[in-house]
Amino acid sequence: MEFIPYGRQFISGADIQSVVDVLQSDCLTQGPLVDKFEENLASYVKAEYAVMVANATAALHLSCLALGVSEGDIVWTSPNSFVASSNCALYCGAEVDFVDIDPDTYNMSVEQLEQKLKLAKVKGRLPKIVIPVHFAGQSCDMVAIKALSDQYSFKIIEDASHAIGAKYSDEPVGCCKYSDIAIFSFHPVKIITTGEGGAAITNDEEIAIKIADLRTHGITRDKSRLTDQSQGAWYYEQQSLGFNYRITDIQCALGLSQLSRIDSFLEQRSKLASCYNMRLSNSSYKKPTIDNDCKSSWHLYPLQLKSADRKYVFEKLREANIGVNVHYIPIHLQPYYTKLGFKAGDFPIAESYYDKVISLPLQPQMTEEHIDYVCDQLNKCVNEMSMAV
Ligand SMILES: *Cc1c(COP(=O)(O)O)cnc(C)c1O
Repeated sequence: MEFIPYGRQFISGADIQSVVDVLQSDCLTQGPLVDKFEENLASYVKAEYAVMVANATAALHLSCLALGVSEGDIVWTSPNSFVASSNCALYCGAEVDFVDIDPDTYNMSVEQLEQKLKLAKVKGRLPKIVIPVHFAGQSCDMVAIKALSDQYSFKIIEDASHAIGAKYSDEPVGCCKYSDIAIFSFHPVKIITTGEGGAAITNDEEIAIKIADLRTHGITRDKSRLTDQSQGAWYYEQQSLGFNYRITDIQCALGLSQLSRIDSFLEQRSKLASCYNMRLSNSSYKKPTIDNDCKSSWHLYPLQLKSADRKYVFEKLREANIGVNVHYIPIHLQPYYTKLGFKAGDFPIAESYYDKVISLPLQPQMTEEHIDYVCDQLNKCVNEMSMAV
C-alpha cells in the first residue's frame, strides 16, 4: 500500500488551470481574484464580509487586534488545538488562559467555561475574548457560549480552521450568528486549500475594514476615510501599524476553484467517516461523538485508544504506511507555555485525551478500500497486543 497521509490536498486539472491562468495574467497579487474569493466565501458561509489573508494564524492575530486586544487583556481558548489559537493573543501582548475540553466532543467545555467565568468575575480577571475551536470539524456549542458572552461581556472569535463546510443548528459554521469573527485556514491538510491562506469572516463592517487595513501595513486608499486631504490619485495613508499579511491572486485562484468543489470533498469525508464508524463498531476504542445539532466537516477522525496502546499502535500503523497523527499535544504543555507558568494537571481532560488519541487518515482522495486497510491493520495491532499480555 502506498503511504496514506492523515490529511492531503486534492488538486484537479481545473485547479491547476486556474493557477496557470493567473500566472499568464497581469496581476499575481492584489488583483481581482482576492475580491472574488472573498465574495464567494462570504456567500458560501452566509456572512457579510470575508477578508482573505496569508494564513489562519494571521487571521487570528488581526482578529484579536481588530477587537482591541492589547497588554493587560486576557484571552481564553481550548488547550486541544494548534498553538496558533493561543499565540495570536500573545502577539498582542495579552495573557492567555485555557478552558478544559468536553470528554466527548473534545471541544471547549461549556460547563467548565461557565465555572471559570464565575471565578474570574469574583477575581476581576474576566477574559476580553474567548476563542472556541471547532475541533476536527465539529462546531462548539455556540448558543451556550454566546449566552455566556452576553452575560460576561467577552467577544468571540471562532477558530473554524477545521470546520469550513460544517453546519451548526442548520447554519453554516462561519456565518457569525453567535460570534464577532470566525476564521478559516486553507493550509493543504484542511478542507480546501490555497497552499497557505486564511480568512476572517464577520458581519461587522468596521471589523472587516480594520482587518483589511491591518493586512496591508495599516494603509488605506479609501477617500472617504482619509484623515488628511488627498494630494492626488497616488495618495494613500498609513493610519495604524499593520503588517504584510496579504494573500496572492495565484493562491485565490486555487481557492476559488477548490471552493467550487467543496461539497464533493465534504461528502467524501463524511462517507469515509461513516465507513470508519461501521468498521470499528465492535471496537472497544472510543469513536468520535457528533452532537445532534452539528454536521461535522470531518477534518479529522480522532480515535481514543488506551494510553498504554497508543505509542505501539502509532508506530505499527506508520510501519504499515498509514500516516496516523496525533491532535493535539495540549498547548499549555508546550515548553514555551510551561515557562509562562502552565503545568501538567492544569487541564486534565485535554491531557488524558491527548494520552490516548490517534488521528486516522481522512482525506477526500481516500476510498473505502483504504479504510478497510487501515482498520485491518489496526485490528492486527490490537490482536498482537492482546497476545503479548
Ligand atoms: C491549521 C490551524 C491553524 C493555523 O492555520 P494556518 O493557516 O496554518 O496559519 C489554527 N488553528 C487551528 C485549529 C488549526 O488547525
